[in-house]
Amino acid sequence: MKKKLAVVALGGNALLRDNQAGTIDEQEQNTTETLENLVFLLKAGYELVITHGNGPQVGNILMRNDAGEQLYNIAQMPVDVCVADSQGGIGYMIERMLRNVLTVHGIKKNVVCLVTQVLVDINDPAFTDPQKRVGKVYSREEADLLSGKKGWIFREEIKSKDGFRRVVASPAPIGIMNDAIIGKLAREGNIVIAAGGGGVPVYIDDQQNVRPAEAVIDKDMASSYLATRIEADEFYILTDVPYIYINYKKPDQEIKEFLDYTDTLKYLNEGHFAKGSMAPKIQACLNFIGHGGRMSVITEAFKLADKTYGSKITMNYEDERR
Ligand code: ADP
Ligand code: MG
Repeated sequence: MKKKLAVVALGGNALLRDNQAGTIDEQEQNTTETLENLVFLLKAGYELVITHGNGPQVGNILMRNDAGEQLYNIAQMPVDVCVADSQGGIGYMIERMLRNVLTVHGIKKNVVCLVTQVLVDINDPAFTDPQKRVGKVYSREEADLLSGKKGWIFREEIKSKDGFRRVVASPAPIGIMNDAIIGKLAREGNIVIAAGGGGVPVYIDDQQNVRPAEAVIDKDMASSYLATRIEADEFYILTDVPYIYINYKKPDQEIKEFLDYTDTLKYLNEGHFAKGSMAPKIQACLNFIGHGGRMSVITEAFKLADKTYGSKITMNYEDERR
């Protein structure tokens, strides 16, 4: 029997919870708890590719960068290097925790973590209108100084109005380095950790050189793109809600357990999914289904072991109640 291949995207919550300081002990414990739930998929015969977010971690790396420059005159590293650092640090942690979880369950598999570059188009309109806030909050004076010195672009903080943050573009992924190798390793039975934090954004210039892009790629968009490229059967986004809802947080809120492509697109266009949180996840799920993927799932990790796990999006409603 041909084994099924799943791409599982771990959200912020899987590694670090909102109310936590972010110590390594906390991150290791959260990661282990999340990975314990993936054993269910492994026992059901899935081969796995794991992707992950890096929001809080890369934010901390950027702040360390800043502090290092202020205190010790250490040269700051650009965003692409910070994303690569976060892939290494987080990927290493997931790999080590996963090895221990596999041992506990008597599962023999290799775990491989790949620092992954994701191609973007330098002419992507996102570059002319950068929106993704990264790094620390600066005063107006600091922001002006930095935009003069480094050419950084800043936007005022929306809620607090008490400072400015650097913004970078969030372009769409158009290619994944080593995607064929990621797919091959996974199909051969190895668990691959890849495309962390949406991947290190790079582009190909006119001379065919690979160049870094000062950008960050949405991790769900990159994960969905990877799932399509390696022709995965299923795509899972593990986050901090058990289901997706329409009329979310309103009196007539409704759980959506089974969704088809057309209805999901309609709900997305009607604004049921918040921009910057659920909307990109839904778009990522639709992209996967639209390119031939069988099923996208949005849920919380611990729900995986539950028969009625999460919200499942397929092309046709009829396929869903298998
Ligand atoms: P992660 O950090 O796991 O990648 P996000 O925090 O960006 O995930 O997105 C998950 C959040 O999306 C949930 O915590 C929830 O508050 C929010 N959300 C917005 N709209 C909806 C909706 N319609 N249904 C479910 N969750 C939604
Ligand atoms: Mg979150």
